Amino acid sequence: MSDKSCNIISGPQPIFCIQEKSVGKYLFECLKKRDPKHVTMTDISTGRSLETGKILQDSVKATRVLQELGIQKGDVIAIVAENTVTYCIPQLAAFYMGVTVHLLNPVYSKGELKHAFEISKPKLIICSQLSVQNVTQTLHESHLEDVKIVLLEGTLENHINITSFENLLENTDFIDPKCFEPETFDSSEQPAMILMSSGTTGLPKGVLLSHKNIRATFEYLLSEEYIGATDTDVTIFILPFFHVFGILIQILSLAVGSRLMLMKNFKPDVYLESIQKYKAKKLYMVPPMLVFLAKSHLVNNYNVSSVEDIVVGGAPLGKQLFMDATKRLPNVSIRQLYGATEVCGASTITKRNNIVIGTAGVLVPNIAAKVWDSDLKKVVKPSTIGELCFKGPMIMKGYVGNESDTKLCIDEEGFLHSGDLGFFDENGHIHIVDRIKELIKYKGFQVAPAELEALILTHAAVKECGVIGIPDDRAGQIPLAYVVRQNGVDVSQQDIIDYVAERISVQKHLYGGVRFIDEIPKSASGKILRRKLIEMFSTSL
Ligand code: AMP
Repeated sequence: MSDKSCNIISGPQPIFCIQEKSVGKYLFECLKKRDPKHVTMTDISTGRSLETGKILQDSVKATRVLQELGIQKGDVIAIVAENTVTYCIPQLAAFYMGVTVHLLNPVYSKGELKHAFEISKPKLIICSQLSVQNVTQTLHESHLEDVKIVLLEGTLENHINITSFENLLENTDFIDPKCFEPETFDSSEQPAMILMSSGTTGLPKGVLLSHKNIRATFEYLLSEEYIGATDTDVTIFILPFFHVFGILIQILSLAVGSRLMLMKNFKPDVYLESIQKYKAKKLYMVPPMLVFLAKSHLVNNYNVSSVEDIVVGGAPLGKQLFMDATKRLPNVSIRQLYGATEVCGASTITKRNNIVIGTAGVLVPNIAAKVWDSDLKKVVKPSTIGELCFKGPMIMKGYVGNESDTKLCIDEEGFLHSGDLGFFDENGHIHIVDRIKELIKYKGFQVAPAELEALILTHAAVKECGVIGIPDDRAGQIPLAYVVRQNGVDVSQQDIIDYVAERISVQKHLYGGVRFIDEIPKSASGKILRRKLIEMFSTSL
């Protein structure tokens, strides 16, 4: 549907109509209706499964655990953990109570955690064995000792004073879900989740997503044409729950009962073996995983014929990769999802019955788009290339505590400026042409150049620097730093690469290397001209 007079195009009219019900209430009702014995989540590495009945009972009990830890409606808790079956327990309890969950990467360094905690100010942090040491030290160094820490599951030898959420659950009396009701509140106002994203510029920010934002995504999540899932679907799942793509699919699986087989790390053999063993039907992935499926000789050793549908998102899916993958998996519909954390997931998806190579599909229900010419400062025809902007009930409430950056990316008409360049063709298919925002996407993970630049500048030998993303066959993009050294100081490229690696999470290391130059190109106002650096890199090839 489109409004030609003002060059706005819209996705289909909603079928289900967004209800005022919170995500918590909705998921609670879905869980209550399902067979309690139905298995929804399994950890592939441990074989541990959670049945629906257990999820329901524990999530209700978890509200009591949170209350006893002093958490109330309106508070923020953080989960800093890998994907596990129990991840959803405190998350659901928070949804029921009107508590906001800040989902964070468990491999975040202390610096990244400090920045994230300063944004959301969580009262409680639920961490994993992997993240507990960094979380504890960060809180200590930031003098935030009154923030409580619990472990999601398991026990620790060296941190005996940190109990686990599971332990607290075991010591809490049974509450009959029949006698429980999630809180009622205004879904459009009530925040549900905070996820990190650097947006179009600057440091990572906390994207605040309301219950209504998430409810609006159900239009396409539940629709077979777009995503769709049933309680007989099995998915081998590696997308992290701290990313919008991962958490939405987890929420979908809780809603409909499709079974998620969780993997913490990507192990090629285990992934393929699991597809074969569990007869996985649907897969969700970022492009580097499709590269693996399209190219690895290992795929020939397994029977992957159960796979019917693959949805690829998080980063661009090139035409060649699409064709290679289709050749390898001719009976699978390979589809593309284009979206962003700020849109609470997808803006467009290739519909199952309408796959067009090189496009990222059509607008999902509930969303409208315009194409913006930032030089002319006006909306152009949808068929003309410009910045892609989106409006609808899924658009984030804003960046937590950061009104200025929120205003920079959501215009007065309520359109979110994506920082991506593209256009819509005559059939309404979106073509993503380029990214004008600073963001680098490494294997689908966000890398903010400004964050790396700020870190590199703390090295005593560095006078100036500018970071860009360069193309990489496997990862999509990798970060490369151009560095100006302080006069007379001796520092090697490897010194800087190591310096960064010691201080930031593994997805943000300088895999593209370091290049020394005499001067960083800047605008008159002192802004780094990254386009010039990109040109410099291209001419050096
Ligand atoms: P994130 O918030 O981490 O999901 O990152 C969103 C950004 O990833 C978008 O603004 C795009 O720059 C990029 N992106 C995501 N999906 C696609 C896609 N299918 N094609 C091109 N770029 C994509």
